[in-house]
Amino acid sequence: MNPNESLVADTKNTWCPGCGNFAIQHAVKFVIEEFEKEGVPRENFVFVTGIGCHAKIADYFNLNSFYSLHGRTIPVASGIKMANPDLKVICFAGDGDLYAEGLEHLIHAAKRNIDITVICHNNRVYGLTTGQYTPTSPYGYRGKSTPGGIHEYPLNIIEMLLGSGATFVARGYSRKIPLLKRIIREAILHPGFAHIDVLQICASFFNMTPQYDEFVYETSEANVSQFDVACRTGQQWNYSDPGPIPLGIFYKTIKPSFPENKEKKVINREEIIRTILSRYS
Ligand code: SF4
Repeated sequence: MNPNESLVADTKNTWCPGCGNFAIQHAVKFVIEEFEKEGVPRENFVFVTGIGCHAKIADYFNLNSFYSLHGRTIPVASGIKMANPDLKVICFAGDGDLYAEGLEHLIHAAKRNIDITVICHNNRVYGLTTGQYTPTSPYGYRGKSTPGGIHEYPLNIIEMLLGSGATFVARGYSRKIPLLKRIIREAILHPGFAHIDVLQICASFFNMTPQYDEFVYETSEANVSQFDVACRTGQQWNYSDPGPIPLGIFYKTIKPSFPENKEKKVINREEIIRTILSRYS
């Protein structure tokens, strides 16, 4: 990996014009360049992606990355982090990918407080497969597979994460890039499980720009460590009604993270391997 090489790869980009993924890519590039200037080498970052439009971000960066199966970013990222706790492991996932196929992994990673960063490109639709509904599509959403509109309510993912024990919960928006950069940086610095739900515009299948632009606002972070305040902020928008839609870091608290004692764990791992091998010698 050449530190003088551009972080953005030469790979042909196939995201649709106007896609919010470009903004997320730009924000992530900015943050990693900032870390590099502060002495964190780029090889310390590992990206893990799921399956979906978001996943192409792995192709568009000159960084170590791992394309996982659908919904399986978190177990892969957890394994990488446990094998080498010095790495900064960032999961990129889609809302269908993470909040449907990968939901159990998400809940348990939050509960475990494993020190990884999860960035969900939440366009509230399956974009790569042209517009099926996801767990955060609004009530009544009409897509190719649901022309009559869906008759179920969306998951409020912020409430769910707070209830699962996540120690860093935030929401960004792909058209508020300075805020997104700040949230991503804070999430990477957070010593524990950090989740960012990014409202990402899907320009082709569910363009929410007018609604989001009208209703988003930046929430106060004065009481960011107070769980009850975070719950109330999370309840302000249910992913179905128009708004208001709070953005920012809703909750941040410090708890022991997993793995918390890397030296002890490395020694144990070697001992375990030696013990197993001795049985066959
Ligand atoms: S389908 Fe939607 S999410 Fe996928 S690249 Fe196009 S605009 Fe982006």
